Amino acid sequence: KTTDYKRMDMPFEGLGLHPHLVKAIRDLGYTRPTPIQAEAIPAALSGKDLIGGAQTGTGKTAAFLLPVLQRMILSPSKGRTRALALTPTRELAVQVADHLSELAKQTPIRSIAIYGGVPMGPQTKALRSGVDMVIATPGRLLDHLRRGSAKLDQLEVLILDEADRMLDMGFLPDIRTIVKSIPKQRQTMLFSATLPHEIVKLSQEMMRDPIRIKFGGDEKTPV
Ligand code: AMP
Repeated sequence: KTTDYKRMDMPFEGLGLHPHLVKAIRDLGYTRPTPIQAEAIPAALSGKDLIGGAQTGTGKTAAFLLPVLQRMILSPSKGRTRALALTPTRELAVQVADHLSELAKQTPIRSIAIYGGVPMGPQTKALRSGVDMVIATPGRLLDHLRRGSAKLDQLEVLILDEADRMLDMGFLPDIRTIVKSIPKQRQTMLFSATLPHEIVKLSQEMMRDPIRIKFGGDEKTPV
């Protein structure tokens, strides 16, 4: 386990992140990657699918956002949605979008949070303006897909955040419908505090040979 320890003790520069991202990380005051970041970032940068066992507070959001941002910085392409994160709640969608704004502030990369309970109009307008990443609750995203206001045919990365909570909230059918409308050729990352059978099954349907990452130090996480 010596190697793991060394990897966890490595500064962000050692993970191969772009200087724009390292600068944003510095400005946020982060000095070292968290254990899940040290494991997940190199795996995600390699383009592989991954399953991460992680609860809130572990730094899991930056663990998936930084590799997405790196991909967008290294091969820029404007006007199309290249990454989608599905979240169980409006609060989490907004939180992830805010985190992206902080990490992407040295770049032109833009995201939008899409969730129910508010009018469709402003979201439709923002989606049509061309955002790089959409962070959405499944039900409202499906409404936008059905109306043609969200276009995901060029998607490169799909993230399921807090997958077990999405299961509890009954979102799995919506998620399966959404996944049918996005390219098969993509990177998929799934984060979940627990891995019930339904989530394992979903991951088998959606992922190819995923790397499994269990964040160190918390025995309570049964992944
Ligand atoms: P999350 O688990 O993604 O919800 O993140 C929990 C909190 O940890 C957030 O407030 C992040 O800003 C913060 N955070 C993420 N990565 C790091 C890091 N490497 N060092 C210090 N704080 C971090």
